[in-house]
Amino acid sequence: VTSDLSFQEVRLPDSALLPGSSGLKRALGCLSQARYGIAWGAVGAAMAVYDEALTYTKNRTQFGKPIASFQLVQRKLAWMVNEITKAQLLSLRLGRLKEDNKASPARVSLAKMNNVNIALEIARLGRDMLGANGTHDEYQVGRHMCNLEAVKTYEGTHDIHTLIIGEDVTGIPAFG
Ligand SMILES: Cc1cc2nc3c(=O)[nH]c(=O)nc-3n(C[C@H](O)[C@H](O)[C@H](O)COP(=O)(O)OP(=O)(O)OC[C@H]3O[C@@H](n4cnc5c(N)ncnc54)[C@H](O)[C@@H]3O)c2cc1C
Repeated sequence: VTSDLSFQEVRLPDSALLPGSSGLKRALGCLSQARYGIAWGAVGAAMAVYDEALTYTKNRTQFGKPIASFQLVQRKLAWMVNEITKAQLLSLRLGRLKEDNKASPARVSLAKMNNVNIALEIARLGRDMLGANGTHDEYQVGRHMCNLEAVKTYEGTHDIHTLIIGEDVTGIPAFG
C-alpha cells in the first residue's frame, strides 16, 4: 500500500526529534545504503534474465537451427552482456569508493539509476526473446520485468536521480 500522509497543526516537543541530527536528514541518510544495495540487486536480476534468454535461445529451434544462431538474436545477447558488464564494473567501483567513504549521494544515484534502467531494458528484451513463453510464470523473465518496473520508481525515481546528477554536475537544482 502506498499512502498519502498529511499533517495539520501538529506540534511536537524537541524530545521527539530523531536522534543524532536536527531532524529528517538522519532518517533519510539510510537511503544511500538502500540504493547502493539496489544497484547490485538490479545487476543480479539482469544476469538471471540474460542467463534464461541465452539458454532459451540456444534450445529453441527454427528452420532446424537454434534461434541463438540468428544475428538479430545474437545482437540482443551481445547488448545484454555488454550492459551487464558495465553495470558490474560501476557497482564494483562504487563499492571501492564506499570503503573510502567517497560514495557521495550523487554517485549512488548514478549507479541506482543506470543499473535499474539497464536491468529493466534487459528484462523487457528477455521477455521478447522468449516469445509467448516470456509471458508465462514458468519462466522468470516476466517476474523480473514487473519487479524492475517498481524498482525504477522506488528508492528515488529514474527522473529524480537524473536531477540529482544534473545538480551535482551543474550546481543548479532543477527539481521544481
Ligand atoms: C513497490 C513499492 C514500494 C515502495 N516502498 C516504499 C517504502 O518502503 N517507503 C517509502 O517511503 N516509500 C516507498 N515507496 C514509494 C516510492 O518511494 C514513491 O512511489 C516514489 O518516490 C515516487 O513518488 P510518487 O509515487 O509520489 O510519484 P510522483 O512523485 O508523483 O512522481 C510521478 C512522476 O513524476 C516525476 N516527477 C516527480 N517530481 C518531479 C520533479 N520535481 N521533476 C521532474 N519529474 C518529477 C517522477 O519521476 C515520476 O515519473 C514504494 C513504492 C513502490 C512502487
